[in-house]
Amino acid sequence: MMKRQLSKGTSSPSQPKSDKKVLVSACLIGIHCRFDGSQGLKRDFLQKLKGSLIVPICPEQLGGLSTPRKPSEIVRGNGFDVLQGRAKVIDSGGYDLTQNFLRGAKKTLKIAKMNKIQKAYLKERSPSCGTTQIVYRKKEKSGSGVTAALLMKEGIEVIGVY
Ligand code: SF4
Repeated sequence: MMKRQLSKGTSSPSQPKSDKKVLVSACLIGIHCRFDGSQGLKRDFLQKLKGSLIVPICPEQLGGLSTPRKPSEIVRGNGFDVLQGRAKVIDSGGYDLTQNFLRGAKKTLKIAKMNKIQKAYLKERSPSCGTTQIVYRKKEKSGSGVTAALLMKEGIEVIGVY
């Protein structure tokens, strides 16, 4: 399992080779796919990917969820626990969205394999894309989201972006 973190500050990811495709959380490149309909464009991050072929994905939309949607949290564990059936993803209305999150993770993996992706840059703190951090009861906690966990399990390098 490999994972690295792109910190909030000035540290930067290793420069991806220009001939390589990289998977990127769609909200990080300006797509309005966040739960509240917003986006999270990171211009400095985008600059660092200059020359790479970006494959944008939003696992929650791929899992069949609409935008906007209610925020969700992983309950009783992290993304790895969800993959093993030990934890669930529940939205703020109390609906169990575990199957949507699993579907989105599997579709993301399929896209990654089709594109021979070896590296993914995913948005931290998300129950799907969080790489080292997720959120539970509005507080950050260590752990990975469902999609990040599946990609890591499959040997893809996943780098968290704040
Ligand atoms: S963090 Fe991931 S699941 Fe959430 S909006 Fe961004 S791409 Fe979609």
